[in-house]
Amino acid sequence: MRKHIFNAGPCKLPDSTLENTAKAVMELGNCGQSIMEVSHRSKDFQLVFDEAVELFKELLNIPENYSVLFLGGGASTQFATIPFNFLKNKAAYVNTGTWSSGAIKEAKLFGEVEVIASSEDKGYTFYPQNFEVPADADYLHLTSNNTIRGTEFFEDKAYDVPVICDMSSDIMSRPVDVSKYAMIYGGCQKNLGAAGVTFVIINNDFAEKNLVADRVIPTMWKYTTHINKGSMNNTPPCINIFTVKETLKWVKANGGCAGMEKLAIERCDMLYAEMERNSMFRPVVEEGSRSRMNIPFVMAEGKEDLMQEFLDFSVSKNIVGIKGHRSVGGFRASTYNACTITEVEALVAAMKEFESMKA
Ligand code: PMP
Repeated sequence: MRKHIFNAGPCKLPDSTLENTAKAVMELGNCGQSIMEVSHRSKDFQLVFDEAVELFKELLNIPENYSVLFLGGGASTQFATIPFNFLKNKAAYVNTGTWSSGAIKEAKLFGEVEVIASSEDKGYTFYPQNFEVPADADYLHLTSNNTIRGTEFFEDKAYDVPVICDMSSDIMSRPVDVSKYAMIYGGCQKNLGAAGVTFVIINNDFAEKNLVADRVIPTMWKYTTHINKGSMNNTPPCINIFTVKETLKWVKANGGCAGMEKLAIERCDMLYAEMERNSMFRPVVEEGSRSRMNIPFVMAEGKEDLMQEFLDFSVSKNIVGIKGHRSVGGFRASTYNACTITEVEALVAAMKEFESMKA
């Protein structure tokens, strides 16, 4: 029996992604080869790749002068390749939790980092607003959704310096004004497909003109290499790209990014409302910063010792993945694009039933 999956990534994927990938593992189209066997230089694979890129561009309304890349290494590798390519003197970072701290740590290897805003002093429970960005920064780095802490911003703002954003855990969950960003990147293992492929949306002029001139950069670590070679300087993660293509087809068939946003709001409204109402639980993130994708919550005051019991209870209800990240504890329900209202209803019902058992 299929579980109600609230994993933080890898996570729930649409049924059509799973079914069509399973078929392609046996045979890609009618080419007599599996997606795992076919050459990445073949016409059959190029069709898969091109469709994934085209869907990406269409769904996010990506302007002409941007490239969409599919690379290996995860978002974590981007934490280093971004400053390696673009940090000449100083970069501005907003610190909103584990992942932005990771990006800051790597950037410090290459130049000065100014942390211009942080929510650390309040346990990362809000998203900092209205910060000043130094005009001499080479770029500003943001993390739009903080997967572990459950804070998110929803407005794409323009700044006086190029903006680079880690959208690993909320890409394609709302329409994004890509023109406000020089680069958007992330792991694909949440809203887009199977783990093992990283997406990069990058402004071509930015990649070329803002490249640090006096630093030796290995071929594979340069964005211009991947732009010029259409992500095929080396063997790309073929089957993972196939899963992205399939998921994007599903996103398109379900109303595109606007459709995903509507669903996301519906899902998280149900969960936050229950956390506010239920005497057993409480949310941890301030209103106004609450993520639609990752919803952390804890036991209400005085009920802390019931945590493991609720976890076990949720498992008995076929619910998986609501244990909070090991660094913060508590619970976290990850409600990415493929998470259904039925699944959210199952979690809400479990919370209600637990309350009535314990009250
Ligand atoms: N940034 C964010 C916001 C993430 O959620 C994650 C992974 N959960 C990462 C970066 C790291 O991604 P990866 O595991 O693909 O390196």
